[in-house]
Amino acid sequence: MAVHLHEEDLPEGVLAPGPVAVDTETMGLVTRRDRLCLVQIADGRGDEHLVRFRSGTPYDAPNLKAVLADPARIKLYHFARFDLAAIEYYLGVTAAPVFCTKIASKLIRTYTDRHGLKDLVRELLGKEISKQQQSSDWGAPVLSEAQQDYAASDVRHLHAMHDILIGRLEREGRAQIAQACFDFLPVRARLDIAGWAELDIFSHE
Ligand code: MN
Repeated sequence: MAVHLHEEDLPEGVLAPGPVAVDTETMGLVTRRDRLCLVQIADGRGDEHLVRFRSGTPYDAPNLKAVLADPARIKLYHFARFDLAAIEYYLGVTAAPVFCTKIASKLIRTYTDRHGLKDLVRELLGKEISKQQQSSDWGAPVLSEAQQDYAASDVRHLHAMHDILIGRLEREGRAQIAQACFDFLPVRARLDIAGWAELDIFSHE
């Protein structure tokens, strides 16, 4: 098991077929303002790949874009809405089909309001992950070991949680509504980019 750091694109053929876990790190939470710095991707076999984009990058990453846009590969995220917007805005691809562990958690873990990645990993897998590097300078010319390990840990557990969450969604009869939510997420992300991030167009107001 290793963390691999790549500059500007994913090497060809490093991922096994099947679902991939995806996460992004950006300069901040405002997609149009805060550039995409890092895309983390894992095939669930134990290695994580980090693709770093420098300041001023043209985001010309054909191998990464091909994987993200591949309709045959499910993309597993935790809070897909944010990552889909960053990927769509900066890389110009819709990284679907989607499975979002946060949406799945909200649909089945109705006994709690704790749906953060740390909480979910702890309850479902009995493991502890650190969120210490969450707010750090992802645009720095050199990423520290701590940053790289944090970034990798955000995609490390999504496959295992996907398996458990699918079973739980089926058990509670919520697999269909979950799938419909996942299918809508690329549109939700586009609404965020287009200016409807805070305004709920489904509300009466
Ligand atoms: Mn992350």
